Amino acid sequence: MTRALITGITGQDGSYLAEFLLDKGYEVFGFARQTSWYRPNCASHLAHRLTVLFGDMTEGTDIGNAIQESKPDEIYNLASQSRPGESWATAPETLLVNGLGAVRLFESVRHNKPNARVYHASSSEMYGRTASGPQNESTAFNPANPYAAAKVYAHHMAAIYRDSYGLYIANGILFNHESERRPLHFLAQKVAYGAACASLGIANSPDRNERGRPIVEDGKLALGNLAVARDWGYAPDFVRAMWMILQQEKPTDFVIGTGKLHTLNDLCEAAYRCIGLDWEQCVFSDPALVRPLEPGSSLADPSRARKVLGWQPTVSFEEMVAKMVRAQVKRLQSLIDN
Ligand code: NAP
Repeated sequence: MTRALITGITGQDGSYLAEFLLDKGYEVFGFARQTSWYRPNCASHLAHRLTVLFGDMTEGTDIGNAIQESKPDEIYNLASQSRPGESWATAPETLLVNGLGAVRLFESVRHNKPNARVYHASSSEMYGRTASGPQNESTAFNPANPYAAAKVYAHHMAAIYRDSYGLYIANGILFNHESERRPLHFLAQKVAYGAACASLGIANSPDRNERGRPIVEDGKLALGNLAVARDWGYAPDFVRAMWMILQQEKPTDFVIGTGKLHTLNDLCEAAYRCIGLDWEQCVFSDPALVRPLEPGSSLADPSRARKVLGWQPTVSFEEMVAKMVRAQVKRLQSLIDN
């Protein structure tokens, strides 16, 4: 039985990937902080199907112990301080987890399991304010926030460990991917939540935004720059790509994205259309929520993944948004009922 170790198991991608690998017959080990595992998390429903090893990415011995114990054939390094916006306030910690944490993992693979195949979660945020687009594996990085800078560091270190020590380490440069499991502080989920509140007539939402205000206040959803454009895909499609990347004979890097660009306006339009409302009556742009250095548009050129991996997204932007809005309506309705 193939053994896989997933860091970041409590997160969106970790939980979908675990489901995907379990369904393929893998033995799955998850690496998680103890406090996070014992709270409800994205992978709570999988507790009886996988083995959880406790530790923190900032502790080299923890990840080393996890690798020694699980003896994985495949490692998926998904653990990360994953909020670019928040990384301004947590720049040193972000580098510790996203940058040094990854290097500690590579170092540990080198010493404890050099034949393991490693997938490392790079990010389209690394392209930052790049002028050229769409972005592929050769596009230069121009990170615009501490999260992205730490990811660039780890991305390069992955290639350095691969080339210097002959390790199998592949970077997946993934563009935005969302789902029903995305936390509320991410843009797409916030919009789905706003639409769900509108649908249920909730004028002041129980959940709050990064400024401590209700996400929906006086019937309005406050967002930052509505003109930002992103390549948004559906997370379960993207974890399948992670697995496909590790099935290649030689380790190389891949850009994964839908290749379709949508603005935040489009996202709002799609979400409020699901509940039959005009988004412009319900959403406004609040300058206080605009990021200091916001990447303008972010569009993947996934042609290499299409050609070499045969990877294609299966869920459209509109279907994804509808799934997220439905899930938020269900969640809020159950809060109201209880
Ligand atoms: P997520 O839901 O925020 O999950 C992040 C995971 O990292 C959580 O399980 C979190 O555990 C864990 N983690 C954070 N700090 C840790 C630490 N010090 N020690 C151990 N674990 C720690 O993120 P995601 O959306 O699944 O993303 C997965 C990976 O892909 C991340 O590396 C992210 O940066 C990258 N990525 C995501 C996207 C996207 O659009 N989703 C795009 C490009 C790249 P806790 O529960 O303990 O916090």
